[in-house]
Amino acid sequence: MAELIPFFKQVNLSFDKAAALTDLPHGLLNQIKISNSVYHMAFPLKRDDGSIEVIHGWRAVHSTHKLPGKGGIRFATMVNEDEVTALAALMTYKCAIVDVPFGGAKGGVRIDREKYSQDELERITRRYTFELATRSSIGPGVDVPAPDYGTGAQEMAWIVDTYLALKPTAVNGSGCVTGKPLAHGGIRGRVEATGRGVFFGLREACDVKEDMAKLGLQPGLDGKRVVVQGLGNVGYHAAYFLQQAGAVIIAVAEREGALVDSAGIDVEALARHRQGGGTIQTYGTGSVLERSSDALELECDILLPAALEHQIHDGNVDRLQAKIVAEGANGPVTFEASEALGRRGVMILPDAYLNAGGVTVSYFEWLKNHAHVRFGRMGKRFEEESNRRILDAVEKLTGGTVPAETRALAARGADERALVDSGLEETMVLAYHQIRELAKAHDTDLRTAAFLNAIGKVAVAYRERGIFP
Ligand code: NAD
Repeated sequence: MAELIPFFKQVNLSFDKAAALTDLPHGLLNQIKISNSVYHMAFPLKRDDGSIEVIHGWRAVHSTHKLPGKGGIRFATMVNEDEVTALAALMTYKCAIVDVPFGGAKGGVRIDREKYSQDELERITRRYTFELATRSSIGPGVDVPAPDYGTGAQEMAWIVDTYLALKPTAVNGSGCVTGKPLAHGGIRGRVEATGRGVFFGLREACDVKEDMAKLGLQPGLDGKRVVVQGLGNVGYHAAYFLQQAGAVIIAVAEREGALVDSAGIDVEALARHRQGGGTIQTYGTGSVLERSSDALELECDILLPAALEHQIHDGNVDRLQAKIVAEGANGPVTFEASEALGRRGVMILPDAYLNAGGVTVSYFEWLKNHAHVRFGRMGKRFEEESNRRILDAVEKLTGGTVPAETRALAARGADERALVDSGLEETMVLAYHQIRELAKAHDTDLRTAAFLNAIGKVAVAYRERGIFP
């Protein structure tokens, strides 16, 4: 395998490919592409045994064309300046693609979370937040983190608690971070949002008869054979919803190995088994590949890398057999591998679009935090009453009776979960067709079209500010 091109440079290669299709001035394109700032912090952690360890963290803000900046925080050993900068850039484009009015940011702490106790993780998270807060680099109108690889609702709760301790009178303070538990101002549907968005994106792509015919596939998700890499937040939820829609999960690759079963793997049961301390090796059904990455090369319809970046590269791309690569993770396919797959006619659903469900629902959470009211609280019962009246009128006019089950469904008012799901579906469907149309118009691939879409929208934002002609 040739030496890997740095991640931010790879993002910029995709940017340049799309930028060449625009007639935007050079200066404006350079402004869109450049990373605004990156902050590296190093702070001491007092470990449970009394020893002191220096912890390194970063927060990159790629673009402030809209505020606040938005992007997750990851806890992982590979976190570095290049990685957070690349991921922050992807956030800029992602937000633009799904019309979320935020700039792009990303953060990370270089640790293996498995090696720290809960108390230590809490101290790390609170100190990281403190470092940002004392530099006015976090806040509902400044920069709003969220969960990413290795973090979840618990870390977000510590972040909001630390922020509010420092700014007790900030009335919209709970909007300083998203992906929080419900009790701390979170929103129903955020935990599964990224995976659910991946599902909506794949469903849209697979529903286009003409595109499926080019791949030699039948339209629809039913019966599609899927290989998933990473059974974490994104991979698990995406696989779960795909399975519900009739897709067959024929392999799951995790850190310790890969499980293969052409009859289909029940991902819910496998996730429960792993949460209870089990492994791929002890699950019991199917066969095991000891080298987890071999699963990427299995014959399948959809390959869903949902773990980390750079999983498909010039060292393995020639052996890939998938017809569709769905980028659940950020940057799982290198630029060169992406180009090679494109030349072979493989369809790639790009990360900047496909995993945008998380930031979409984060946006809804942020809106909820500013509105200080749960979605659906004002209208749900009114809607139900109106629907009941309509059903009563229908029964009166026709002399018939609407069956109880149909009545219950038809009369239902929208609650928060239903509204979030509806907003997410609308967002992912609309964005997919925007990108597909652009790809067709420019005779290019979906990744280039996604960048083209984003560049156009960010350019409008700069022009509206009067900065560029
Ligand atoms: P997570 O920590 O919940 O899950 C990651 C999973 O990948 C874990 O189960 C881990 O064991 C597994 N894994 C790690 N290395 C692996 C390897 N070499 N082979 C197979 N499995 C491996 O993280 P997540 O939140 O699901 O994030 C996964 C990816 O999705 C990241 O690239 C992240 O940036 C991206 N993403 C996440 C969100 C979100 O809302 N969480 C949103 C957009 C994009």
